[in-house]
Order: sequence, then structure tokens, then C-alpha cells
Amino acid sequence: MEKVNILGVNVDKVTYDDAVEKIYSMLNESGNHSVFTPNSEIILMAYKDEAFCDILNSADLLTADGIGVVYASRIVKNPVPQRVAGYDMAQGIIKKIAESGHRLYLFGGKPGVAELAAENLKKTYPLLNIVGMRNGYFKPEEVDSIIEDINQSGADLLFVCLGAPTQEKWIYNNKEKLNCHVMMGIGGSLDVFAGTVQRAPQIWCKLGLEWLYRLIKEPWRFWRMMALPKFGFTVLFKGKRYKKGEK
Ligand code: UDP
Repeated sequence: MEKVNILGVNVDKVTYDDAVEKIYSMLNESGNHSVFTPNSEIILMAYKDEAFCDILNSADLLTADGIGVVYASRIVKNPVPQRVAGYDMAQGIIKKIAESGHRLYLFGGKPGVAELAAENLKKTYPLLNIVGMRNGYFKPEEVDSIIEDINQSGADLLFVCLGAPTQEKWIYNNKEKLNCHVMMGIGGSLDVFAGTVQRAPQIWCKLGLEWLYRLIKEPWRFWRMMALPKFGFTVLFKGKRYKKGEK
């Protein structure tokens, strides 16, 4: 798969359809695969933290989640075809496995969120095979029992929704102990499936203003969102200073 290097992070140049197809084929392959969806904030974190950058680059699929990453790919003159958000991919793959029998486990969010998300998903896809769920608040000593629960459920697909960079690190550190075929780090997606957080209406997304919608709905994100202009300036001035001599 072709990639674009943005501040050292090798983002896949895929369309939404390619990405969903790729996840579906990974589900049917042996071995375990990780899927991360970096936005501007996550790429900026990786720019400042080489170990985290390596974790992102170890993924089997890395999609451009956020209009900032799409613009950045244009600035470095190697554009991605479109934005491919984690939530959209999650929806796409759920549609594909809605009747296939593949087993899905929902991990993350506040207590009760995964249950609510499962309830809503079952209303839309009554045959969707949700085999387990677990909230995302746990002590380090609970990790082994969480892994055991996921493995015992027989899950093929695992949504890990702990926010970045926790979810990417969690997947990376535990990948070898998990028997799932695909593990996706997809932030606040369970909140959206649960209906506790609203996704921006399509028109805002099309205009590249989802960040503004989220800021209006969740003003506490202001300081986190300061990463956006910082990311823009960093890509403009350092976008071509590739890490580790990569092109
Ligand atoms: N979360 C979690 N465990 C934690 C911290 C956060 O499960 O220790 C969840 C939180 O409840 C939320 C998600 O992780 O559902 C992070 O959502 P956020 O909107 O910050 O992520 P984004 O989509 O912006 O990456």
C-alpha cells in the first residue's frame, strides 16, 4: 500500500472503501493486525515521541482521521485520497460483518457506554455477533484478566476505545497475547454508537469543520485543539524533514 510520510508517521493512502475492504480481508487472515487512525493531535504527539511514532508505524493500516492530516498530505505533495475516520471505518466494517457471524468485542468508554453501544447496534443489526464488552477504566493489574476475557469470548474483531495514545500503546503492548484478528484503536467511537456523544452532521464533515462542531459541543477540548494550528505550522516548516531518512 502506498504511504505518505507526515512528520515521520507513514499514513496509508487509502479511500474509505479500500480501508473497509482491507480490514475485512485482515479479519479472514491468520495472525493479528492493528488499525490506527491518527489525527493531527496524534501525529503531533508522535512527532515529539519517537517510541510512539514507531508504535503508529507498526500498524497494518494507518488512516488519515481528520481534515488536518488530509491538508498536511497535500502540503508534503503526496495527498491521501480522502479522510478516513475511525468511526466511519468502524461503521463500515460492522455493516460488512452484520450477518457474517464474525465476533466483535467492544472495549472502552465509561461504565455502561459499551453496553449502550451494543444495544443500539443490535437494534440496527439484529444478527451482529457482539461477544463481549468492557469499560475502559481499569488498573494495570486488571489487564491480564481483560485479555483473558477477550480471548475467551473468541472475538475476531476488537474495538479499543481508550483515547490516544493509551489505546495505540495498549494494542501494541498486548497484541501478541490477544487472539483477535483485527484490533482497532478508535477513540470516542463507542460514545457515538451509544448516543452519549453526537457526531457532527454530514455537512460540517464535508466542509472540513467537524473539529469546530466538536469544539462547540465540548468546549473543554479547546486546549487539546490548540494542537491543530501547531500541527499546521510544524508540517509547513518541518513536513519535509523526514525521520530516519524515509521518503
Ligand atoms: N477512555 C477510556 N479509558 C480511559 C480514558 C478514556 O475508556 O482511561 C475513553 C473515554 O471514555 C472516551 C474515549 O476513551 O470514550 C476517548 O474519547 P476521545 O473523544 O477523547 O477520543 P478521540 O475520539 O478524540 O480520540
